[in-house]
Amino acid sequence: MSTIAFIGLGIMGSPMAQHLARAGHEVVGFNRTPEKAKPLIDAGGRAADSVAEAVRGADVVALMLPDSPDVTEVLTGDDGVLAHAAPGTLVIDFSTIRPDTAAELATNAAEQGLRMIDAPVSGGQAGAENAALSIMVGGADEDVDQARPLLDIVGKTVVHVGPSGAGQTVKAANQLIVAGNIALLAEALVFLDAHGADLPAAVEVLGGGLAGSAVLNQKAPKMLDGEFAPGFRIDLHHKDLGIVTAAAREAGVTTPVGALVAQLVAATRAAGDGGLDHSALYRTIARLSGR
Ligand code: NAD
Repeated sequence: MSTIAFIGLGIMGSPMAQHLARAGHEVVGFNRTPEKAKPLIDAGGRAADSVAEAVRGADVVALMLPDSPDVTEVLTGDDGVLAHAAPGTLVIDFSTIRPDTAAELATNAAEQGLRMIDAPVSGGQAGAENAALSIMVGGADEDVDQARPLLDIVGKTVVHVGPSGAGQTVKAANQLIVAGNIALLAEALVFLDAHGADLPAAVEVLGGGLAGSAVLNQKAPKMLDGEFAPGFRIDLHHKDLGIVTAAAREAGVTTPVGALVAQLVAATRAAGDGGLDHSALYRTIARLSGR
């Protein structure tokens, strides 16, 4: 059994922390908004009042925070993990952040005698709630081996893809693919609607062929119902496409379709829809067609 400090109990972190607690681990949660620790307490965990308090006595620290600056602050700030966790502690960062930041932070952690792996996830809120996430893991073999029993509790497909930062590179590619899929699904549904098609029937038959996908299964119903509660917020996908753009530039490759979709996501955000699910890209595509 591990003692796990879990920092960031939002849409994804809360169900993940609950799974770890229900599996018998001692989970101490901390979130900036303290009420979000309530479901973890109900699942047998505890709540701390600060990062320092959460990591005291922990042998594993899990992070599920929004963006690179949040993870950097929680790790390296005066009240952060590196200042308060015991040497040898394993940090598992589930957040989606920049690959270069992940690699730098792993180096910082090592300088303080801690170990850190990047373990960003895919599968959305449903994947977190059903402990069925796909987890892309970057880090040293021995650290990944130690983390694997915990990763297997929250994930279904857990793959060690390379050294520190490599998990985040694969996650950036994941976000590129998902954004493109959502944009094309939205275009197809606006197109079908304009033709007066039976939309549920169309979605059913599309799902059985080569156009079928997890994106179609999960996002088409939201688009058809006009129900865009998150899920995965447009703001977060905007962040992720920024990561893709920077990493593509660094590698000297072009992502022309990704650049177009990034602009559509930016327009969705500018229209005031940043807090909605990323399937709300549909609203932007519909507006462009005057619908
Ligand atoms: P969220 O905003 O629901 O959760 C983030 C939580 O972190 C919030 O509860 C916030 O209060 C807390 N927080 C922020 N800064 C903090 C700090 N300094 N100290 C303590 N708590 C702090 O976001 P989410 O949807 O759970 O996403 C978290 C990460 O997972 C992001 O990197 C996102 O890109 C990634 N992700 C999300 C999904 C999804 O479907 N929602 C899927 C895969 C990956």
